[in-house]
Amino acid sequence: MKQLSTNRRDFISTTVSAGVAAGLAQGGFFSAPTYANENKKLGFALVGLGGLATNQIAPGLLTSAHCKLTAIVTGTPEKEKKWADKYGIGRDHIYNYESFDKIASDDSVDVIYIVLPNSMHAEYTIRAAKAGKHVLCEKPMANTAADCRDMIAACKAADRKLAVGYRCQYEPLHLKSMEMAHNKELGAIKMIEAGFGFKIGDPTQWRLKKKLAGGGALMDVGIYALQACRCLLREEPTMITAQETKTDAVKFAEVDESITWLMKFPSGVLAYCSTSYNFNGLNRFNAFTENGFIRMDPAYSYTNNRMETSKGKVELPQQDQFATEMDEFAKCILENKPSKVAGEEGLKDLLAIEAIYKSMETRTTVTVQS
Ligand code: NDP
Repeated sequence: MKQLSTNRRDFISTTVSAGVAAGLAQGGFFSAPTYANENKKLGFALVGLGGLATNQIAPGLLTSAHCKLTAIVTGTPEKEKKWADKYGIGRDHIYNYESFDKIASDDSVDVIYIVLPNSMHAEYTIRAAKAGKHVLCEKPMANTAADCRDMIAACKAADRKLAVGYRCQYEPLHLKSMEMAHNKELGAIKMIEAGFGFKIGDPTQWRLKKKLAGGGALMDVGIYALQACRCLLREEPTMITAQETKTDAVKFAEVDESITWLMKFPSGVLAYCSTSYNFNGLNRFNAFTENGFIRMDPAYSYTNNRMETSKGKVELPQQDQFATEMDEFAKCILENKPSKVAGEEGLKDLLAIEAIYKSMETRTTVTVQS
């Protein structure tokens, strides 16, 4: 339990610190953000101190301009001292899942970042909103679209902002791809092929348990390919046809192993996508346009993604996707602006994911609900 697959970590992450250093050294892709209150750093509480929180988010908080780690929530007592010592967190700012709601009176916390197994996202987002805190929730936003709607409603009722941890929305090459697609620099997109997968390790981990993960490769990494298509096109899929295969029915008894799915968009564009928990090397999108192509491979790694178009290679300074994601959310809070990765975005992905699972089960083409 509670282990990040080494395979997954190795596959997605290369050298985060090198990437951060490179991004900082070169000034980053974005122009320096202007904030309503330049000196204000928002306090973040991390909930669930697993692989992502430890290796990406906490280091990202150290380099972020407008966020700082002020509290932790963990169910593992041994982690408390380690994190407190490393990040200078006082005893009064350490919570477990039972004492979580007391965070309401912790003035050092402005934002709660949910980094728990997927099935826990909805409960802790709603509890965080009720505690009067803004919420950043990891992807997938929840296990069901119904849960996403409850999360959005809870944050609205508490007048708190809710965003989903879609780090690729802050990745310079993704932003460039979207810009080129939207400006039709190579003509309109005619078709997209996209996929993301990896060979998952430890067979006992929560990612392979339906109750905790909600689903398998699709919920975990296929969602990146799905979102790339939606964002390149700025459209929502209307019809989906999907098929699953399991080559290891024991390991993947509870969740999907490999899926391919076909999405039809209102403009008529077809996107054919795939995901898997059973092999490495699938990490790309390829948008075929009227006059050429826009391609990323690898596309969804923490660092060292590569982009090429029919006009040539595109290279941009790298930056820490997590630090940028958190800074951009802080900016939305400080300036009271909507987040581009608000809960509604997470809901749209879950609506498409539900259609994919329904199509697999019914062996029919399914209309995506809205
Ligand atoms: P881990 O398994 O590494 O960590 C999850 C943590 O959640 C655990 O360490 C534990 O922390 C806590 N937890 C509480 N209850 C349970 C339980 N029943 N079983 C397992 N863990 C539990 O997962 P990750 O950090 O890799 O993933 C966490 C979330 O982040 C997921 O939603 C995942 O999809 C997302 N993610 C996003 C990525 C991105 O690139 N945006 C990349 C990787 C993950 P504690 O001991 O402190 O209680």
